[in-house]
Amino acid sequence: MHIITLSFDDGFRKSNLKIAEIYERFGLRACLNVLAAPDQLVPEQHTWGTDRGDFGLWNELQARGHEIMPHSYHHANHAELPLDQAKESILRCLDVFAEKLAGFEPEKAVFNFPYNQSTPKLEAWLPTVVRAFRTSGGGINPLPAARTVKLTTTGAGPDNCEWHLNDEMEMLLSQPEGWLVYNTHGLDEEGWGPIRSSYLAKLLERLVTAEGVEVLPAGVALDRAGKA
Ligand SMILES: [Zn+2]
Repeated sequence: MHIITLSFDDGFRKSNLKIAEIYERFGLRACLNVLAAPDQLVPEQHTWGTDRGDFGLWNELQARGHEIMPHSYHHANHAELPLDQAKESILRCLDVFAEKLAGFEPEKAVFNFPYNQSTPKLEAWLPTVVRAFRTSGGGINPLPAARTVKLTTTGAGPDNCEWHLNDEMEMLLSQPEGWLVYNTHGLDEEGWGPIRSSYLAKLLERLVTAEGVEVLPAGVALDRAGKA
């Protein structure tokens, strides 16, 4: 059994609309990690584009079956903040999600650290406010279990990352089982380490019929493990 999660960060409007459409072609649900306050982006994020989606779009995509998860308030690096400020920023993010995203429950959420940068203290605290968190540490995880709280991920950039994703998938499938959580961003020219729309469509077409492989959003994979 292998699970593949493409964990798309940053909430680029154009890319997310296209990602959702491509996943729907194959009856799949995308894993989209977005910001609570994209209008207050930290300055260094402007490089990657300021046309981010809003909760109108996130509610629409969620209603179409996609998973919308928090990727922080405005993309600060939480490992560089004093602990109290980092916690406050995460709680502020979760409050906005609870207010603006239909049916959002923090205890079912996966918090996706910006830059995949966390600290041991934040990692110890986060399971008291969310279901799980995603940080750096390698793309291949054990299959999810009821007790799983820490997901680790990998990615490559700033240019096209398909070569790296291909390597990671090959590594996953060479093992008897596992869960690849791969951190993707935008499509085509958008975002850090993009993949092409045409590549994504071909990849999902192949994976959807591959034996013993499931393409799932992170929260669904965890949820299922909790019920197993
Ligand atoms: Zn990000």
